[in-house]
Amino acid sequence: MGHPTRKVKGVEVNTGALGHGLPIAVGMALAARMDKFPARVFTLMGDGELAEGSNWEGAQAAAHYGLDRLTVILDHNNLQITGATRDVMSNEPLADKWQAFGWHVRTVAGHDYAALTEALTTPPPAEMPLCVLAETVKGKGISFMENVGKRHHGVPSPEQLATALAELDAAETRLRGEEVSA
Ligand SMILES: [Mg+2]
Repeated sequence: MGHPTRKVKGVEVNTGALGHGLPIAVGMALAARMDKFPARVFTLMGDGELAEGSNWEGAQAAAHYGLDRLTVILDHNNLQITGATRDVMSNEPLADKWQAFGWHVRTVAGHDYAALTEALTTPPPAEMPLCVLAETVKGKGISFMENVGKRHHGVPSPEQLATALAELDAAETRLRGEEVSA
């Protein structure tokens, strides 16, 4: 599976061509407001995806319309399908760019669930869309996947799957142990 699926509860759109998710979300947030429907709209984006100019049109429109019930979660792992974002299409400084487009930006450690939860549940200032800039590592926790660009997509072999699951199980056991001893 290379893209999200709408079989997951809450996923309304699984965009394939990049750069469509945010503009669609802007439309959804606007429609919800017009219908007086109290929904929040979330868009999960990759950092490499920002090479698509349609994202910046969407970002500009979201700020223009003051869509404070629209949230972007930006997976900032510095990699995309063909290499490092700085080599393919450099896009830094990301926080400054989103702020310049009129968004409220919260930069968080993207593997810290507590930090993510706080960033997502604290409302942004009135009439500002929210960008949660999640600093992440691709393939986090799996030795042969961490920070490996070609792991952007592809199916692991049965042996790799077994290794990955064992490493994730070990990490979970370690984390639960730390919780107990804390
Ligand atoms: Mg990326």
